[in-house]
Amino acid sequence: PLLTCTIAERLDQVASAFPDREALVDVPSGRRWTYRELAADVDRLARGLRAHGVAKGDRVGIWALNCPEWVLVQYATARLGAVLVNVNPAYRSHELAYVLNQSGVSLLVAQSAYRGSDYRAMVDEAVTEGRCPALRGTLWIGDPQWQRLTGPAGDFPALHCDEPINIQYTSGTTGFPKGATLSHRNILNNAHSVGELLGYTEQDRICVPVPFYHCFGMVIGNLAALSRGACVVIPSQGFDPAAALCAVAAERATSLYGVPTMFIAELGLPDFDSYDLSSLRTGLMGGSPCPVEVMKRVQSDMHMAEVAIVYGMTETSPVSTMTRRTDDLARRTETVGRAMPHVEVKVIDPESGRTAPRGEAGELCTRGYSVMLGYWDEPERTAEAVDAEGWMHTGDLAVMREDGYLSVVGRIKDMIIRGGENVYPREIEEFLHTHPAIADVQVVGVPDDRLGEEIFAFVVLRDPAATLSTEDVTAYCAGRLAHFKTPRHVRVVRTFPMTVSGKVRKTELREMAARELLR
Ligand code: ATP
Ligand code: MG
Repeated sequence: PLLTCTIAERLDQVASAFPDREALVDVPSGRRWTYRELAADVDRLARGLRAHGVAKGDRVGIWALNCPEWVLVQYATARLGAVLVNVNPAYRSHELAYVLNQSGVSLLVAQSAYRGSDYRAMVDEAVTEGRCPALRGTLWIGDPQWQRLTGPAGDFPALHCDEPINIQYTSGTTGFPKGATLSHRNILNNAHSVGELLGYTEQDRICVPVPFYHCFGMVIGNLAALSRGACVVIPSQGFDPAAALCAVAAERATSLYGVPTMFIAELGLPDFDSYDLSSLRTGLMGGSPCPVEVMKRVQSDMHMAEVAIVYGMTETSPVSTMTRRTDDLARRTETVGRAMPHVEVKVIDPESGRTAPRGEAGELCTRGYSVMLGYWDEPERTAEAVDAEGWMHTGDLAVMREDGYLSVVGRIKDMIIRGGENVYPREIEEFLHTHPAIADVQVVGVPDDRLGEEIFAFVVLRDPAATLSTEDVTAYCAGRLAHFKTPRHVRVVRTFPMTVSGKVRKTELREMAARELLR
């Protein structure tokens, strides 16, 4: 059955069931919390925020890289029934002002600096000229005022699980971010379900190198751990492959998270063999498709035999489908699993809206408790995304297989139409990953006078000093890949433009490719 408690009630239940078990470990600072200590600090912070004027329904922004205070703020706002607004740490003053203003944040909790960026100056810049009229103050993590933060005791407000508790802006991979508004019921149940399918207990220690501001870190990382009494291990503030593996080894983590590019970076460390990863058994991989070769190494060389693939989006709290522990390698590499408990999925023909036959690509739609309350203050965009029957239209193309498992073939916007043929970049990327010199690859469509679109591949080489020409790639594809899928243009690059949540910004790659061809 679905949980109907609030997040604060869940914290109380777990803190009384496992008071002395570890809840949170911050490797960079060496600080640790048991569940009893976590609940006490959350309480103190909730009283402090209340003394600062935060009331039920108010929006509180958090703008910081991964750190324990992020987690404390996550649960303190949940205690008060305030709505936590996750702000991407890579934002600069322009985007910050947009998000604070769009969601009406009244109090911002922020870090003051990171690698030479002055967050205080950026807040000042964002709020000048009255650009964020609702913002009444900023609390700086670690400042003396922050350290002393507390307030009078007294009951916290009564809350209901269907009330909003969180606004998460989508990654902005395809355009301007939208503020998905989520309730206790949305995210707590999704977190709990993911934890159940991974078999999490209070014995598990989950290493979370993915950003907390994104649902991957905050919901299926932090909240999934909380809902099962497990421990969150923070390896570093921003992603650092060596720090992630160090933390796994030092803290004997049982689970490790990441998007495929993170696992690629970890596997590519020159001293990879020197890390003791034997404590790992599981983990989560999601956000974008995982190349087959990478999955094989994650399961064997990283000991994550039970690693699960998740598919989802911010708007669906986030996970809609997931592989199961007993699934074979084929299901883990060819599919994104099957529907989560209590979640419906279907694939439709985008033109007619009718369910597509099994085996045929169409738009993936999902329905159930996990669909967001709506985009904050954007009823029209909400109505475009969620139809009258409650189906979330994901904008992703997928195939429903005979066994009920789904394969994601890409985003509708990324599909290449070359000379009337539909070409899915994902398939070409998978194939090029088998090339021995290629470490990573991204394929996009570029405008072409004759065929409408042509295929452009950006490749990262294993050996940075090596070269790879278009002719080399053409020769490699000959006889193995259909002619109409063979990249017409190949460029070697060192990295791809990424969002902070670790996703490749294909829109930017398309622009880069188009610019190159104009030269
Ligand atoms: P925006 O909506 O602002 O353009 P975004 O869609 O990237 O950004 P998120 O909500 O973070 O923002 O990401 C959800 C998307 O990520 C999904 O719609 C899908 O395209 C992609 N995705 C998630 N998991 C997987 C997966 N396992 N395999 C393939 N794609 C995935
Ligand atoms: Mg999206």
